[in-house]
Amino acid sequence: MRKLGIYVHIPFCVRKCRYCDFLSFPAAEETQWAYVRALQREIEGEAGQKTTGKTLPDTDFSVDSVFIGGGTPSVLPEGALEEILDSLRKCCRFSVCPEPEITVEVNPGTVDRRKLESYRKAGVNRISIGTQSVHGEELAYLGRVHSAADFFRTYGETVEAGFTNINVDIMAALPGQSVADYMDNLSQVAGLCPAHISAYSLIIEEGTPFYDLYGGERCRQESSGTENGRILPLPSEDEEREMYERTDSFLREKGYHRYEISNYAMPGRECRHNKGYWTRQDYVGFGLGAASMVDNVRWKNLTGMDDYLRLAGTEGAGVKREIQRLSRREQMEEFLFLGLRLTEGIGRGEFRQAFGVDVEEVYGTVLGKLCAQGLLETDGRIRLTDYGRDVSNYVMAEFLLE
Ligand code: SF4
Repeated sequence: MRKLGIYVHIPFCVRKCRYCDFLSFPAAEETQWAYVRALQREIEGEAGQKTTGKTLPDTDFSVDSVFIGGGTPSVLPEGALEEILDSLRKCCRFSVCPEPEITVEVNPGTVDRRKLESYRKAGVNRISIGTQSVHGEELAYLGRVHSAADFFRTYGETVEAGFTNINVDIMAALPGQSVADYMDNLSQVAGLCPAHISAYSLIIEEGTPFYDLYGGERCRQESSGTENGRILPLPSEDEEREMYERTDSFLREKGYHRYEISNYAMPGRECRHNKGYWTRQDYVGFGLGAASMVDNVRWKNLTGMDDYLRLAGTEGAGVKREIQRLSRREQMEEFLFLGLRLTEGIGRGEFRQAFGVDVEEVYGTVLGKLCAQGLLETDGRIRLTDYGRDVSNYVMAEFLLE
């Protein structure tokens, strides 16, 4: 039976952070409940129980991970998340493996112990806490709704509620952040011994208040090291690289291993759901704007809330729209891009099994060139070197086929 990941998108947040370009916004409790009901209709519709308009193919799948992300799923009113999980169990036409990984993303200040205990009772076994920083000034500048104390309280309550599989998200290269500031964040978070730490660099995304301040990559470089009124300067590229390199060495000493470019785990605690994305496992997304990929066909749900509320679970196409049927060439490219994000890299046998040809037959010249440049190592598995990881965008672009 093939494995399947399920993603559920909760688009609500207390308010928008200044760097955020995710599909998320504040909403009244009434809207949140209307959304939960629509989600249940979508899940039931996919089960084929209420509609004839199933969009996804009938295949034997076993769900081995569920990820409830956002947004901030923990802003949902009490009982809502439990109802969604109930619908997935009862109505989803896919069978569920005996011990699926079930993750909920929470933000400090939006959960308490009671809510967390209720998640646990509902079968949630992994909590991902987005704090980004444990420095008050950094949190305020990012526009986060919580303080450092809120994070430590939420972390403590998560442990008290019985969770042992906890991820903490932190961010590097924040405005005004020195390498020492960042390392202090990392050290305080690692001091709690979470099973997993995700450490991404801040990206200045178009359409965000930060983009208006910093204007993308070009201004990131120009603004580095300068004081500009109340606009804090972004760290330089060298500082950002130092943060990245020191994250790996620091966390390795603490017993974590980097299994993906920005993700670190204690042994056996890698995120099953995200690993599914990087190994091109099939997944189905429910909720506003959620993406799915099954049998190399991608789907994306509608992104307009009114349309979603109206069409979820209805006859016909419902809320899912086919956006792309991946060609063989695109599948190969994706196999390389995603697989190389993993520290273990790509196995030659896996490529042959997926495409029926040797990877050297398709990519021999590129692999030779990237090895000669010291960006890849190809003994046994094919993986990025440390240098290759530093310039991974360049390496990935080399795998685009004509
Ligand atoms: S909490 Fe997360 S999803 Fe919500 S606005 Fe902030 S960064 Fe975006």
